[in-house]
Order: sequence, then C-alpha cells, then structure tokens
Amino acid sequence: MSPRPKPGVLRTSPYVPGARTVEGYPQVVKLSSNESPLGPSPRALAAYHAVAPMLFRYPDGSQAGLRSAIGRVYDIDPDRVVCGNGSDEILSLLIRAYTGPGDEVILSQYCFAMCYTHANVQGTDLVVSPEADCRISVREILARVTARTRMVILANPNNPCGTYLPAAELERLHAQLPAEALLVLDAAYAEYVVAEDYDSGISLARHADNVVVTHTFSKLYGLAGLRIGWGYGPGAVMEILNRIRTPFNANAAALAAAEAAVLDREHADFVREHVRLWRTRLMEECTALGIEVLPSVTNFILMILPEGSRNAAAAAAHLTARGIIPRPLGAGGPPNALRITIGLESDNLAVIAALREFMAA
Ligand SMILES: *Cc1c(COP(=O)(O)O)cnc(C)c1O
Repeated sequence: MSPRPKPGVLRTSPYVPGARTVEGYPQVVKLSSNESPLGPSPRALAAYHAVAPMLFRYPDGSQAGLRSAIGRVYDIDPDRVVCGNGSDEILSLLIRAYTGPGDEVILSQYCFAMCYTHANVQGTDLVVSPEADCRISVREILARVTARTRMVILANPNNPCGTYLPAAELERLHAQLPAEALLVLDAAYAEYVVAEDYDSGISLARHADNVVVTHTFSKLYGLAGLRIGWGYGPGAVMEILNRIRTPFNANAAALAAAEAAVLDREHADFVREHVRLWRTRLMEECTALGIEVLPSVTNFILMILPEGSRNAAAAAAHLTARGIIPRPLGAGGPPNALRITIGLESDNLAVIAALREFMAA
C-alpha cells in the first residue's frame, strides 16, 4: 500500500514551458513564451530594488497599494480586485472555489493550459468547446451548457491563435448563460489589443454577478519572472477568493514592481506600439513568403506552414539551428503550426531572414 493521489490528479500531466536554451548558443533569441524582451518599466525596476532592505517583512496581505493603482488605471473599484501569484493563481482559486465532482466546466479549446489541470484536480468534468477556425465560438459553447455547468473559461485574445472575440459576442454569450454559471475571462493579452470592438470583459464584469476577468503583469508589463496577476469581478466572488487564498500570495517585490509598472502608461504605450509595428511587419513578411499567418492582436503570431518538407517541425528545427527558439505546438494545438513571440528589432529581423532561407531551400 502506498499513498495515492485523487483520480483527477492522475489525469493531469505537467505543464511544458517554452524552451529556453539551444545547445551551442550562449545567447539565444527566446521567442517561446510570449515574454516582453523590452522588459518592464524602469520605474518598476527601481521599485523592485527599493524594496530589498524590507524583505525581512511579510508583504502587505491586503495588497492595497497595487489594487488601488490598478483601480485608477483600469477605472474599476479596487475593493473588487484580488492579486495573485500570476493570473494562473486567480484561475486556480476560481476553479477550486466554484467547481468540484459532479460539476461541469466548459473550456474553450485554446484557454490557458493550466485550466485543464486545475479542473482535473478538482474532479470537475471538463467539457471542451472547439475553436475549429482558431476562434472562440459562442455557438459551440452555448451548445454545451447543461444544468451541471458551473463555469465557462475562455482566453480572450486566445493563445496560441492570437484571435479575439468581439465585445458584442461576449455580451451575447453572457446573456445566454445561466445566472449560476461563472464566466471567467482570461485577458492575459488585453493590454496589447487596439481593436475598437474588443473589451477584456471589464465592462461586463462591472455590472454582472457572474463574470470575472483576469489580467497579468507577465506579458505587456514585462514582469513574468515576478509572478503577479489579478482578477476583477463581483464583490461576492472576490470575497470568496480572499477567503481561500494564502495570506501572502502576492510577494513584496512583485507588489512594489507591479504598482510602479501599471502607473507608467508611457512605457505601456511604447511596448504596445513596438509590438503592433513588428507584428504587422512579420505578418506581411510571412504572407509574402507563402506562409499562412492568423490575424493576431497579441504579442505573438501563429504561422500555419505548408505540408511536406516545409512543415512546422522543419521550420522549428531550422530556426532552432540558428539560435532562435519558437514554440512548436503539441497535439493540443492547431496542426502544422508554429508560434513565435514578437521580439526586439534584431530578433524579428533574424526570424525574417531565417524564414526566407527556409522557404527558399
Ligand atoms: C501567459 C498567459 C497567462 C499568464 O499567466 P501568468 O500566470 O499571469 O503568468 C494566462 N493566460 C494565457 C492564455 C497566457 O498565455
């Protein structure tokens, strides 16, 4: 006899992070995890260093400073914000608090991979709603709602496709969901989106009793290494999250750096504009080379490669042999696709040169 985990735990497999090294390359162009190579705001770095002498103290468990800064920038009530160890933790807390055996959670196919793990551990039944054309389908989600549906989770924009569901569609989805089902919107890439018909879900969450939006400092704000994200939703739901989270889930360095980062709007605008320009350029270059690319609104693009000798695996090998790390998609992703993060100018030029070589070979 030996200790055995719950059955749901046995259905999970470890998260596979983007590769970070290539043998023979001391310096790599890492484009595998949608990090921001422009880094965080200089003010965030200063705040991070300034907290060093105080590291013997516990962090502010009420997260008041960061919540108030988020409230100001996003024009939301800071009392309805909860911060966590990445937005991943907020998603995990929601799944833990609101679902369990006998319940169903509907996951839009390309939601954050860890949602599958969290729901499995809870013993919740997973219902996957397909994104056939790499877009979230309100019709497919609604077709899967039953009396057991407790939660619907989608990433908007989604990953790895980089596409988004317009605000009107989101409202249509919400209007037809049962009131007792929680709509969870993972908006990790929201800060990059400039499309006028996009809303991270904050507008919806402002008045609805069953909508929670999660945001992160890992992407546009360039603080992936610190692990800090947040959720915004109805007071009653946020009160539940505060009840079950560990008291110091957001660490002192992360709270200080994120507060400075969110208040530096100039840096946020600079990063968004850099990404927009290079995303447009990379998409044009791919199309000119005969590589299909999905219309991304994020800091990454998804290339669909031709079948045969110039397929996604060959393209990944070609890039990797030049010290460039893309993100090949496993069995769960769209077939024959390769995701790459928008990098620095020199990174992007290296990608374009390598792809040109690859397609000409
Ligand atoms: C990167 C990413 C996140 C962010 O996770 P953190 O825990 O905040 O770093 C969440 N959802 C999606 C879809 C992502 O790609």
